[in-house]
Amino acid sequence: MNQLACLIDERENALLAPYATFSRDSLDRQYPESTHPYRGPFQRDRDRVVHCSAFRRLSGKMQVFNGQMGDYHRTRLTHTMEVASIARTIGRALRLNEDLVEALALLHDIGHPPFGHAGEDALDECLHEHGGFSHNRFALTITTELERPYPDYPGLNLTNVILDAQTSRIDKSDRRQLPCLEAQVVDLADSITYDAHDVDDAVKLDLISIDELLELPLIRTCYDRVIDASPELSGQQLRQTLVHELLDHQVDDTLQNSTRQLEHLKSHNATEGRGIELSASLQLQEEKSQLEAFLYDHVYRHPDLVAVRRRAQERLRSMFHHFVATPELMPLPFQTRARKVGVELAVRDYIAGMTDSFCHKQYECLFDEKSPA
Ligand code: MG
Repeated sequence: MNQLACLIDERENALLAPYATFSRDSLDRQYPESTHPYRGPFQRDRDRVVHCSAFRRLSGKMQVFNGQMGDYHRTRLTHTMEVASIARTIGRALRLNEDLVEALALLHDIGHPPFGHAGEDALDECLHEHGGFSHNRFALTITTELERPYPDYPGLNLTNVILDAQTSRIDKSDRRQLPCLEAQVVDLADSITYDAHDVDDAVKLDLISIDELLELPLIRTCYDRVIDASPELSGQQLRQTLVHELLDHQVDDTLQNSTRQLEHLKSHNATEGRGIELSASLQLQEEKSQLEAFLYDHVYRHPDLVAVRRRAQERLRSMFHHFVATPELMPLPFQTRARKVGVELAVRDYIAGMTDSFCHKQYECLFDEKSPA
């Protein structure tokens, strides 16, 4: 072990729980590299994700609401940053490897195509005979094939720990082994984050009101706490304080429950830690399901959003079939890729990498059709 590896090991031995994933167990990379003079393996993974072009393009991809609905709401990038922040809070409190948590959080949505889950569904349908489309699987294609920051090999050459954790997200019903605890924390933080920010964005956009939300036990609990502490709050301040409480409440519950679950693992290592499935309390899980069902009915199925999704899906489908029929219209690197992986998968790679606005522009160029204002 070199001097830096010794320092990292010393620090992690002092700070991390035995069931955390240690840098010394980072399982190497596909293409061997020398160690960095002052960054550990998961710090390097995090930096590679942050500096890649697919990560930057998340700023132009919608989370739930699109750009025509204002500029307050979350994009895929700001959602990702919020997940990373909450995941780090939970990871640090549980004494897990915070660098690994952060790298996994920043990576977790990098494979999203334009137009969120609507785009994913459209591409999945188009690629039905070619393995379908999953943003979690596409994240691996991006990080191992499409990004080309190095001259000698394709991909970001992330550690195998990161790739294993991302692979485990592809089909959660088919997990032979639970992912490392750090990856589980990212999944929990993802859910905490979108439940809170979708409430915030939907109320801000007047799709739902706080009064309507009060029928939900989770919102009622948070609202009562907020009003007990500050009965004078109303309007924007009430909405924002309620959303902060919704975050705090979920994080508190998840931390308390996870701490209980990990209690008897005090002397176990990361491999044994994988035997535990971290979760929120059963009560919070039930209350989150009620909130998510409400959001599904009143927000995600809102006519304004349904119309946005329908138009986006029609455009994606038309573009997919058009590029498959005329791949020479794609940029040269994707024409080259088509010779390697087949036309359909190269078209997938081209379209899935687009931002929402680039996708609309491409569509308008191809079909000479303008977007409605
Ligand atoms: Mg997410």
